[in-house]
Amino acid sequence: MFPKELEDRFLQEGESKRFTLMIMSGAAAIALFMGMLIADFLLSREILLYAFLIRLLAFGPAIFAGLYVLRILRMPAVNEWLVACCGLYAALLHAFIIYISPGSLSMARVVELNVIVVYTCTLARFWPAVTLTVSVGAIHAYLVTHMPDSTGVLATNTTLLMMTCMAFVLYGTYKLEHDERMAFLLDAREQALNAELTVAHERLTRMATTDALTGLANRRYFEEFLGECWQRAQAQRRVVSVMIIDVDYFKLYNDRYGHQTGDRCLVSVAQALSSSIRRPGDLVARWGGEEFVIVMMDADADAAAAAAERAREAVAALGLVHEASRCLPRVTISGGRASMRPNAQSHWDQLLQLADDALYRAKSAGRNRIHAGYDSSFLMQRKVEAVQ
Ligand code: GH3
Ligand code: MG
Ligand code: MG
Repeated sequence: MFPKELEDRFLQEGESKRFTLMIMSGAAAIALFMGMLIADFLLSREILLYAFLIRLLAFGPAIFAGLYVLRILRMPAVNEWLVACCGLYAALLHAFIIYISPGSLSMARVVELNVIVVYTCTLARFWPAVTLTVSVGAIHAYLVTHMPDSTGVLATNTTLLMMTCMAFVLYGTYKLEHDERMAFLLDAREQALNAELTVAHERLTRMATTDALTGLANRRYFEEFLGECWQRAQAQRRVVSVMIIDVDYFKLYNDRYGHQTGDRCLVSVAQALSSSIRRPGDLVARWGGEEFVIVMMDADADAAAAAAERAREAVAALGLVHEASRCLPRVTISGGRASMRPNAQSHWDQLLQLADDALYRAKSAGRNRIHAGYDSSFLMQRKVEAVQ
């Protein structure tokens, strides 16, 4: 037996399978018990009618009632004991038939109790099976000491046979249940390991794709994401926009306020950028250092320009003081954006390069602004679209 909690789980998990098995075994038990009429016919013909009525009316309905109780109770532990009770009931009825049988051969029939023990124990769990075998052993002992045609030799022989039979059957029952419990434990361990593995895997994936400081996606994830967007855009002729954002004079910020305040500033900027990006399919990532990137699928140059302005304003609205800045006395960002409708040959590197060039121009032009970088083919395309 397992500790209580595990035992309950073991019984619960196997319950429906076991219940089906009990129903099938119950039906087969009725057939087997009726089949014993053959022995009644051969060895106890005088009471055949009684035997028939007992087997038909006392056993069958009781088993059906037992199965019905099993179904209602749905208590696996109780069900196991009900199995043993059914076996014991069959043994008692059978013993009664043997007992009232007047023929000189009826004593030989006590061995038939072994059939009931073997049958019930193949289904029962170990401890109910032990209880059943001990009880049937007692019935057997009563019969061999009280039947008129019992002799010492017969009593010894049938007792030895029954004890041997019980020993083998109990060993088998024990082994079966032991193996079943072992399989359950191994399965439970596997499930626990799998659950741990899934959690560890999720954690690793999160760590591998997230920037520890800001909680944004990291550069690795950004490149993966942009690669996927790019492929979709190539296949479906869609527009992809990116924006590279850089905090202005951030080295001076660190020098003035310290690295930790610098870190807190980066976290605030990251939050401001995230909140300025509205569509759920867009991605804000930390590119590295004090640089961020934003990917926007299906955002044309106008939409990207609007998003860029929102991002710049969101950072300005933080109102973080930056007295060392040479452009404004608060934290500002510069950015470069670019949009492309990629063809089969183009690579997303080109788009980033355009955005990076635009960022460089924004820096040169005085910072706190976002410039656009256009691909020449994209410009051509826009002109064609405009003409159409
Ligand atoms: P510019 O306006 O031209 O971008 O000037 P800048 O000072 O922002 O650019 P520069 O590349 O010279 O300096 C970037 C600074 O960002 C240097 C580095 O100390 C700081 N930095 C990079 N990563 C982190 C970080 O994780 N935390 C903090 N506190 N500072 C960082
Ligand atoms: Mg930089
Ligand atoms: Mg900078």
